[in-house]
Amino acid sequence: MRLRLVAVLMGLALLSVGGVYAAAQQFFPVKVLVNGQEVAFDTSPVISGGRTLVPLRALVEVLGGAVNWHPDRRVAEVVFPAPPPGAEPSYFFWREVGEQAAKKALSHLGTPVDLLVLTNAGYVNPGGKSTLPCLDGIMALTACTEGKGNLLRVHTADTRPLWFFFWDKKSGQGVFLELDRSVALQLLNRPAGQPLGQAALWSKVACENIAAEHLLSHPQQWNQKVQAKIFDGFEFGIVTIANLVAHGAPPELIQSALFHDHLCPGVTSGYLIAEYLKRHFPLSPGESYYVLALPPWCKEDALQVVLNTTPGKGGMAVIPMNEAAKARLKPEAKNLAGIYFRYHPAQQRGEGLVLAFDFGKAYEQSGVDMAKSFPWESRLKLDLWLLQYLDRPELFITEIKRFQLAPGEAPSDYAQPGTNPLVKLGLWQQQFSGPHRAVGARR
Ligand SMILES: [Zn+2]
Repeated sequence: MRLRLVAVLMGLALLSVGGVYAAAQQFFPVKVLVNGQEVAFDTSPVISGGRTLVPLRALVEVLGGAVNWHPDRRVAEVVFPAPPPGAEPSYFFWREVGEQAAKKALSHLGTPVDLLVLTNAGYVNPGGKSTLPCLDGIMALTACTEGKGNLLRVHTADTRPLWFFFWDKKSGQGVFLELDRSVALQLLNRPAGQPLGQAALWSKVACENIAAEHLLSHPQQWNQKVQAKIFDGFEFGIVTIANLVAHGAPPELIQSALFHDHLCPGVTSGYLIAEYLKRHFPLSPGESYYVLALPPWCKEDALQVVLNTTPGKGGMAVIPMNEAAKARLKPEAKNLAGIYFRYHPAQQRGEGLVLAFDFGKAYEQSGVDMAKSFPWESRLKLDLWLLQYLDRPELFITEIKRFQLAPGEAPSDYAQPGTNPLVKLGLWQQQFSGPHRAVGARR
């Protein structure tokens, strides 16, 4: 298609976005053919002053691209993801689903000033074919891309529905669309060449203002919608991630929230711990981090994203702690937030660092009362409050202990069945003494 298009366009000087050349229009109207098909324009192309002027939008759209007009900058942006060579029919199907989602959303949002799109496309693949082509469809109609950071994929189990959320950051208005799985599966297997047309693809369409400032000033109203699962249970993830992006969070924190499927203070604590390690426990050449998640909470997902300490690659072990176990921590370990190792496998040497994270300080300084707010409300407030301290991990993190690994000892020796690392480190009380405390709770 591309080569033939070039032939058709030879000699044409592009372009005009709207009908800005009305004066010349009555003279020399011309036709434009793409692959032999005449393109329909609402304003005809014309020859003016020896140049052929062709409306940009109609031409690009007929080729599967999109034009976004930025009036403030007087820029016409063309986005043109071409299908991959030899694309399967499922590529075109899912791409069209993405386009339909964007069209539907834009019909509600009008012309968004600053669009952000969230979706779980690529994680949820009904019919066994990748839904990633939805991204190309969205890109074609909205000009949002992963590269620009305004098209983001939220981690979701494959068993959940496929959804899209289009959000105008400026107005706060957003549109949630959830795909009707059974309709999609029928259409996916329809005869080749049959367009989706006006098929009833969506089992749920919901339009809401989800700007944090709006929700936090009307918590009761939003809480009713959360209870009613207005976004089919994805409310917290969508609200926190969208507002995180709108508040200019760093990319690693956004990636962590996408992997975790929401932003919560627990994820932010993991990001802060990773920052702390990079500053105060940096790696030397040949070393890597090993995380002993004890007790584990949402922070582990941020640590995996920022430090790539995945359990599958032997970078993390997780040991749960119930309330009885937490009650046996020695007082100096009361805010225990994990044991971190830097280890040189070739030289079989390493060091450990036991960290504490003081959530009490965050609650106190932010004034957020976890007990007196709705769960989404307190977390969202604390999420936003913590954003201003991302470069000050020392405010919340303290060192309980540093230690050297014994010669020949590996970090994973601290996580073997039958081994209690807290006994090894002298942080465990043999006898329970004192009230139970909640470490790692309510995040
Ligand atoms: Zn969480």
